[in-house]
Amino acid sequence: MNRIYLDNAATTPLSPEVLKAMMPFLMGHYGNASSIHDTGRDARRAIDEARKQVAGFIGAKPNEVYFTSGGTESDNWALKGVAYANRNKGNHIITSAIEHPAVLETAKWLETQGFGVTYLPAGANGILSLEDVEKAITNRTILISIMAANNEIGTLQPVAAIGALARAHKIPFHTDAVQAAGAIRIDVNAWQADLLSLSGHKFHGPKGMGVLYVRSGTRMMPLLHGGAQERNRRAGTENVAGIVGLGQAAQNAGMFIEENAEKITRLRNRLIDGILSTISHVRLNGDRGSRLPNNANLSFRYIEGEALLLHLDLNGIAASSGSACASGSLEPSHVLLSIGLDAEDAHSSLRFTLSEATTEDEINTVLALLPGIVDKLRAMSPLAS
Ligand SMILES: *Cc1c(COP(=O)(O)O)cnc(C)c1O
Repeated sequence: MNRIYLDNAATTPLSPEVLKAMMPFLMGHYGNASSIHDTGRDARRAIDEARKQVAGFIGAKPNEVYFTSGGTESDNWALKGVAYANRNKGNHIITSAIEHPAVLETAKWLETQGFGVTYLPAGANGILSLEDVEKAITNRTILISIMAANNEIGTLQPVAAIGALARAHKIPFHTDAVQAAGAIRIDVNAWQADLLSLSGHKFHGPKGMGVLYVRSGTRMMPLLHGGAQERNRRAGTENVAGIVGLGQAAQNAGMFIEENAEKITRLRNRLIDGILSTISHVRLNGDRGSRLPNNANLSFRYIEGEALLLHLDLNGIAASSGSACASGSLEPSHVLLSIGLDAEDAHSSLRFTLSEATTEDEINTVLALLPGIVDKLRAMSPLAS
């Protein structure tokens, strides 16, 4: 069976070009980048090159790029690092209620450590209001952390405006740009971001590899203590192959953003319009216009998203109900509840996330199958009668 992969927000396949760039550093070039000899210097050079590739991808300087073990570590480090470095100035953090758990759970933990956190709600369209952010600022605020693009409903936040606001108040601004990377152009200066998180596996790089951008001059505590790697800020022998892969993935992702976005948006709109016009009692979650090109999140009234997901899977189609991180739990999505869905509609949601490899045929296959599956499940549903 030909599999149709529409779960690119959960992870993306490693690109063959990225694998090819990584291979030498898993075998022949095994040096430790801290070693002075030739084998070590090979590794060092490769890391320096990858740092430049990532810097180019986000408009940063290479020495502002720190390699981490993934988006989760980057988010943890950004919040904890800035919070602890600024304890003498204040203890208040502003974030949103629709952040990824890597930010939300870190913020909740910081609350147990004496910090106070404001979780701003997103509107019904899944977008924060700038006015709410401004109103939440106090003279004790030491960090604003707002994601660039939401992983469940794909909505884009006004990060450049939030960055400008934070800058005007001299408050460090962090943005989780994990879902934005490769989909929309990231520019740390246009966004006035002081910290920005990336994850390699969300743009065809390796899993277990991330980046935290830290603007020079930003006060930060290390999360990991040990050796002097990453300019004394992130200890541990570098994952050279992973870093090389992430660098290559960043360079590739930066090349075709606009072209891909146009193609993916067209197919995504075909999917959304097709579903809305052939199936009744469906709603699109998140703003129609201000959303990632590849995201379609819909609620199918009277049925469980999980059931829909399993039936699609039987037909070779991979989608997601809620987010991969939240599935396995029966808790309805905190994002969908936050934008005003009731628990029933939140449970009936399904997320399709496309990629540049998605074809029109694949979208047509989904559109041909879905109405029948929905009818069948609704016929069995006690909620529908
Ligand atoms: C996937 C994801 C993360 C976590 O990244 P990992 O590399 O998987 O740890 C963080 N934030 C967002 C928005 C994500 O989509």
